[in-house]
Amino acid sequence: MIERLDRARIDALPPPEVVDHPADLALEFPDVIIVTDHSCRQCSYNLRGLSAAGRCPECGAGIDLSQQPRYRGLVAFLESVATAALVLLIVVVVVLDLAFAASVHIRFVVIAWALAAIVAAPSWWVTRKGGIGRLFLVISAMLVVLPYVPHTRVKSYAMFYACIKPGMTRTDVLARLDDYYPDRASTDVPTVRVDSADRLSLTLGGDNTPYNAECIVIRFTNGIVIAKSYSPD
Ligand SMILES: [Zn+2]
Repeated sequence: MIERLDRARIDALPPPEVVDHPADLALEFPDVIIVTDHSCRQCSYNLRGLSAAGRCPECGAGIDLSQQPRYRGLVAFLESVATAALVLLIVVVVVLDLAFAASVHIRFVVIAWALAAIVAAPSWWVTRKGGIGRLFLVISAMLVVLPYVPHTRVKSYAMFYACIKPGMTRTDVLARLDDYYPDRASTDVPTVRVDSADRLSLTLGGDNTPYNAECIVIRFTNGIVIAKSYSPD
């Protein structure tokens, strides 16, 4: 009987108001004290323990809890997308460099760096979080160092090619070849295919070896480099 009465009274009560977020309460009751962790929308200061009607003690921004849930969601979304994109970019840069010595080409470095900046800038601007900034610095440092790291055979060869400039003499070119391949007996030394007055052509590998068509051709006029070309295997 008692149970039945209670059930009847409960059913007669108005349905409880659904509050999705304490922020909604704060709008209705400005004197409410923030009891959960809430970051200031401007400076990320934790507003816990403060009045919802007040201002951030750090930066003076009005406490606007109503904007926070959506804003926070956007910030978190931007941050995770940017982080994933930057990590992916690091992987792609390393893979392309290992496979094709891509970082030897300044255009590749500039494009990769610009992409990183385009991805990092908006989310860093919104979140002001160190993580994105640090990731961007890692990519920047990587792109500065990578062109000088001869971590594969193709990379050393491509680095040698990159340092050949018009106006160099044949002696300069051969000196650079010695710089990159001091041990002439090593099997890694490129094979000279043509060595004439107007042309020096090399392949990375000898006959019937990998890279036997990874070819560098340098053209000379009166012993001075006038053109060069690179064709991958
Ligand atoms: Zn603040």
